[in-house]
Formats: sequence, structure tokens, C-alpha cells
Amino acid sequence: MNKLVLNSESLNNVLDNKVISRQSVIGIYQNAVEDPSELFSTAQNLRKKFKKNSVTFSKKVFFNIVNLCKDTCSYCTYKAEPKEEKLSLMSKQQILELLQLAKKYRCVEALFVTGEKPEQKYQEARDWLKENGFKSTTEYLIHASELALELGLFPHTNAGNLNFEEMKELKKTNVSMGLMLENVSERLTEKGMPHYLAASKRPKARLEVLENSGKLGIPMTTGILVGIGETVEEIIDSILAIKTLHQKYGNIQEVILQNFQPKPDTMMKNSPSADENYFKIIVALTRIIMPEMNIQIPPNLSPKSYQSFLSVGINDWGGISPLTPDFVNPEFSWPEIDKVDENSKNSGFELKCRFPIYPEFFSFISKELRDKMLVIENGEGLVKEEYWR
Ligand code: SF4
Repeated sequence: MNKLVLNSESLNNVLDNKVISRQSVIGIYQNAVEDPSELFSTAQNLRKKFKKNSVTFSKKVFFNIVNLCKDTCSYCTYKAEPKEEKLSLMSKQQILELLQLAKKYRCVEALFVTGEKPEQKYQEARDWLKENGFKSTTEYLIHASELALELGLFPHTNAGNLNFEEMKELKKTNVSMGLMLENVSERLTEKGMPHYLAASKRPKARLEVLENSGKLGIPMTTGILVGIGETVEEIIDSILAIKTLHQKYGNIQEVILQNFQPKPDTMMKNSPSADENYFKIIVALTRIIMPEMNIQIPPNLSPKSYQSFLSVGINDWGGISPLTPDFVNPEFSWPEIDKVDENSKNSGFELKCRFPIYPEFFSFISKELRDKMLVIENGEGLVKEEYWR
């Protein structure tokens, strides 16, 4: 590849593998607002250098284990109250049946999602745990993860702010785990801001969970929520915080950039969605801050234009389910895998199916888990085509 030479000294430094300062990133952002072309071509150049011509996804089944939640975020439509129709309290039998169905669909990932510590606030959650024979949501998640593995699906749990011991237990069965950092801004937790009623979203609490995942050597997916009233400096600081964690522990396997979309039944229903140009600049900035990172945008949240993000630095579409909805964004159904395949191909990229753990992180997990993966794994550490297609 011929070396790209740009007018921007900061971007030339990025291409020369030099570390750039926070101030340079802010300068790059300000220039990109006027004309993003140099930033986008730098991001594209780095993406090609480190991720070649492929784009990955995870073929998943989404388990909405329990959507009671002790917190309230102004944009959330996932959380349910006890009498609501959308309340989900999955029984052991329902989990087993969905796992069996997912196996028939040849899903690879079993995504287990819960609200934040539901049993701390709701009697309904405590009764549900008791009926199923568990003392805590984490105990239930361990059971569900074991069942998934028995059937040849690979667990990835996203259950909010778990403590060190809980994560240590889940590491035995989960090939990776997830926790969105969302944003490191304390300001977003102030009165009138989206995280005011969500203690678990306090940056200190969030960062502590990510630190613990590093200490435990858990391949971790995290990310940023874009468009919830943050400033661009707060976004840049959040991306830099993820980079610092990764430099310290080496366990951040993926950064999700999720664009805010207003939901009808929420406090932020009248807030505008994240502007697409702003979002693209953030995606490209993430690539130049962490050139080798796996960077994902969810295709269902940019249904008309997701393929255009391939040219600003992403290399992953995240989990796409052929059989369950996106319970976090139910208004936005996932595109069909065949369609994503076609759109990726038309943009010059080859779609590949990955495990919920990226190959670079295989050394973080046990031999028992690796052995189970080998059954459907190809020579690249991805899922065999004949299995997922
Ligand atoms: S975003 Fe998560 S923590 Fe916030 S209300 Fe929804 S389920 Fe609870």
C-alpha cells in the first residue's frame, strides 16, 4: 500500500505509529467538523492495515433473562416494571428450549442479558429466583451458561456491574463478557441528565468493573453510547479511558460505538438521535486512538447506511440473531445475515462469523472452553463457513 501523506501533521503522526495527545485528538475532531476526508482516509488506512478486508459478526441468540432493573436511565426501553407486558422472567425450561432452538439455527453465541441487580429492588425477582432454585441472578446466569456450553453454544454475559467474585465464577463458562462504559462523564449523572437515577452508571463504578475484568483476564467487550447529551471532549475522554485500561490489562477485545436512538416510552423520547456525521467522526476518531482495536457498530441502529461505516474504520457488526429480537432496541430489528453479507461484499469486504471471543484473546480462556470451540472452528480461529451459512 502506498503511504498516505496528509496535510494534517497529527494524522501523519498517527500513520507513523506515533502516540497522539488528547489535545491533538480534539484538534483532529475540530478539523473534521469542517472537512472529515483526511480523518476518514486515515481511519480507513489503519482499518485495512490491521483488519484487512474482512468484517466479522457473531451469530447469536439473545436471552432476556430478567429485565427488572434497580436503576433508571432516561433513554432505556429495556427495563420493565413488574406489571408491564414486556416483563421477562425466563424459567429454566424456557432457557433450555431457546437454547435447543438456537442450536437448530446454528447460532454460536448465547448472549445472556439482565437488568442491574433486580433482586435488590423487586420482590418479584426474589420470588422468581426462589422458584427456580437460585439465591442470586449471578447463580442463575452460571446455570444458564453451563447449559449453553453443554449444547455447544458459547456464553457471553452482560449483566451490569457484577462484582469481582461474580465475574470470577462466570469466567469459567463465559468465553467473554460485556459491559458498556457508556461515558466517563460525572456530568451525565447530575440532576436532569440521563444517568441521574442510575448508580451503576457512575463512571467510578463502571471503571472498577472493567478494571476487575482486567485483573481476572476476561476478554471484555465495552463501548460508548454516542448522542446522550455528552460533549465531544467527554466522548474523547471515554475512548481514552478504554485505551488506558487496555494498555494496563490487554483484555479489551472490542469497542462498541452505539448511536443513541430515542424510544417512545422513555424520558428522552423527544431528544434527537445522534447525527450521522458526528457519529462517523467519533467512529473514525476511535480507530485513530486505538488503531488495532476491534470496533463495532450495530447495523440495526443505522439501518439505511450501516455499510458506509466500513469506510470510516469499523471491522465488526456485533451480534446478529436470526431468531430473537434486539430486546435493548426492539424497534430496530436486525438485518438478515444474507443481506449484511451482500452489503458487506458490495462495499468490498468479506463477511466472516466469529465466536463471542476474538482470536487474539484465545489465550485468556481455559483449555476446556477452547476444546469445545474447536468443534466448529476454522484455521483462522473463526467459525467454519459450513456451520454458520
Ligand atoms: S440501561 Fe441498563 S441500567 Fe439503565 S435502566 Fe436500562 S437496564 Fe437498567
